[in-house]
Amino acid sequence: VEKANFVICGAGINGLTIARELLTRGHSDILIFEKEPGLGLHASGRNSGVLHAGVYYAPGSLKAATCLEGNRRMKEFCRERKLPLLENGKVIVARDESELPTLHELHRRAATNGARVELIDEKQLNEIEPAAKTVGQAMLSHDTAVVDPKRVLAALAGELTATGKVKILHGAAFLGRNPDGSVRTSQGSIGCGFFINAAGAHADTVARAFGAGSGYMLVPFKGIYKKMIPARSDLVRGSIYPVPNIKNPFLGVHFTRGVHGDVYLGPTAIPALGRENYKIFDDIGLETLSILWRDAKLFLLNAKFRGVAMEEPRKYSFSYFFKDAAKLVKHLDPKEVMDSPKSGIRPQLVNLKTNELVMDFVIERKPDSLHILNAISPAFTSSLAFSEMVVREYLG
Ligand SMILES: Cc1cc2nc3c(=O)[nH]c(=O)nc-3n(C[C@H](O)[C@H](O)[C@H](O)COP(=O)(O)OP(=O)(O)OC[C@H]3O[C@@H](n4cnc5c(N)ncnc54)[C@H](O)[C@@H]3O)c2cc1C
Repeated sequence: VEKANFVICGAGINGLTIARELLTRGHSDILIFEKEPGLGLHASGRNSGVLHAGVYYAPGSLKAATCLEGNRRMKEFCRERKLPLLENGKVIVARDESELPTLHELHRRAATNGARVELIDEKQLNEIEPAAKTVGQAMLSHDTAVVDPKRVLAALAGELTATGKVKILHGAAFLGRNPDGSVRTSQGSIGCGFFINAAGAHADTVARAFGAGSGYMLVPFKGIYKKMIPARSDLVRGSIYPVPNIKNPFLGVHFTRGVHGDVYLGPTAIPALGRENYKIFDDIGLETLSILWRDAKLFLLNAKFRGVAMEEPRKYSFSYFFKDAAKLVKHLDPKEVMDSPKSGIRPQLVNLKTNELVMDFVIERKPDSLHILNAISPAFTSSLAFSEMVVREYLG
């Protein structure tokens, strides 16, 4: 029988960085259990790898409070370990004039958040990102960068276990809680002093076993990517993003040069049929019905969700996806864009009372447990700062 002072469910970026922060504060008896045989099989290993730089987030939000500092720390982490890090910045472009007021609002938010950004004209854009297209103005974010998320996870896990104070137990899925306070997993019970829920797409279900997260449900959205053919991966130097609809949490299909030179287009945010519905038939089961029920309710009651649900599934069609991406650049030939196996699921928290998509990270503390409930983008970027804040403010 395993036992530890701190037991963490989930070895994604949040579980790992929380363990790291506990170590920094002198704790030593930490066990992370993870249902998968390896690291990065879900959001933390399937994202765009972009270190966001404080542009989008409403001032005062947890996202705003942790993104820039997380960006700085993650860059430092990668530099010190010589992990891949591409510091090419990003531009946000307007597809038509109606997007300029939102671009200016983003500029105001970014400035309030302390981000290094500037509004640029079409000529400056042409110098920075020659393929990009905008109407009138664009915004440059200097500090946006790209990492290899799986390499980050591997480095973190290696360092944690090398201390001998943190153990990672793979292949152990959370099943429930025993009356004595220990947790039941597929590899037996684990006794715990304090339980931390960093289960990503399953965090709401895990929370329920502790009487937490009762007003919420996670609804999955699928992010699919395409790729520039290798011969055209010189199209983009850094990242090109559209002006998003800032009332919903998704940033829109964008171009991102990865650390290994590939240029990805995506991701979408298509309502998905399961929490791990990466390919068409993955993870379709009983829960699909309750997800569809929740989606149907949101469709009726929430205009923002209705917009996403009407728009995004069209991107399953190559020509629709292509047209969406092509608006960001001057020339794009369908033959230059190829399919990619890369896909991810973004678990999005929904407030069951208001039927709103929750825009910020959510943390719930119970007497002997803590729950990270809405680890949406930019949670990867924020992680090192977010985990420090969580441990400092919620665990003393
Ligand atoms: C397509 C996509 C693009 C994104 N792009 C970016 C980006 O560019 N920049 C950025 O900052 N963020 C981005 N994000 C967001 C970011 O990836 C996530 O917010 C972050 O990785 C969440 O980390 P996590 O540790 O909370 O969750 P996860 O990475 O999902 O980790 C949770 C872990 O818990 C395990 N687990 C779940 N249930 C159980 C259970 N019952 N028992 C045991 N273990 C369990 C899972 O196997 C998993 O390993 C993106 C996300 C997606 C999906």
